[in-house]
Amino acid sequence: MIPPIADNFVAGETAPEAIDRALELDERGVSTILNLLGEHYERPEPAAEDRDAYVRLIEDLDDAGVEACVSVKPSQLGLDLGKSTFRSNLETVVETAAERDAFVWIDMENHETTDATLDAFEALATTHEWTVGVCLQANLKRTRKDLARLIDVPGKFRLVKGAYDEPEDISYTRKARVNEEYRELLRYALANRERGIAVGSHDPAMIEHAGALAAEHGADFEIQMLMGVREPAQFDLAADYDVYQYVPYGDRWLSYFYRRVAERRENALFAVRAALGV
Ligand code: FAD
Repeated sequence: MIPPIADNFVAGETAPEAIDRALELDERGVSTILNLLGEHYERPEPAAEDRDAYVRLIEDLDDAGVEACVSVKPSQLGLDLGKSTFRSNLETVVETAAERDAFVWIDMENHETTDATLDAFEALATTHEWTVGVCLQANLKRTRKDLARLIDVPGKFRLVKGAYDEPEDISYTRKARVNEEYRELLRYALANRERGIAVGSHDPAMIEHAGALAAEHGADFEIQMLMGVREPAQFDLAADYDVYQYVPYGDRWLSYFYRRVAERRENALFAVRAALGV
């Protein structure tokens, strides 16, 4: 069982708990992106297990009548073992999604994985139109070019600021510069496509910026936020936008929970209050 200190950020250890969370959010007008926690496998077996778990999850979500949307990590599907292992596992998940009218997001990990991740996205989004999305990180200097190259691919893009510490020669390290880049990526994306853009950010300034650009260009965008972060705002925003909550689950929750607590004071206070029951 997930202890109270972590259960604000993680739905549970099992798929049924994650599906219950999706049903609850659905009733409140927020859609769900489910992520089975797991990354950096050194053997093919756990990557194949997670692939099969995603296949079952997509089928179970569909059977439960919830819009099925999942997010996978490349290293969880075997990228550390080689591109072909990753591609073949991802293809299986995407094929199931295509059969079930579901959607597969591909999370972006550190810069060493960017090329392999974008190549897999491009290939699968071309063969399974509007079934796959990929995350793009504003802190990487290459992202403007990547977005321009992929702008006509029939898939979605989740724009985020970037969660990984990257080398200075290839990334923006100042927060203000990352924010500036994020605004520019939003501008380019919303000026050049009518749909398929996701704002993966809790930042009210970026959401407002996206709203203004979308109105100017007649484009559409969705908002994605993490479970346990600005939840009241997620429910409020759902009155005007498509809002998705990224919901992690699974028994490997500890390192994900530490990351959330380490990245922000509010999250640490939230967790301590939950633990003390105050
Ligand atoms: P920040 O720049 O951290 O904060 C900006 C403002 O947002 C703050 O000033 C505050 O007003 C508000 N805010 C932020 N956090 C809180 C909080 N806890 N409580 C209250 N207000 C808050 N990164 C990757 O590298 N790869 C991925 O695949 C990836 N997927 C993601 C998927 C989703 C759905 C989301 C939401 C993020 C994802 N990220 C991913 C993480 C992302 O890169 C950022 O590290 C993370 O979202 C923090 O940046 P931010 O834009 O939310 O806001």
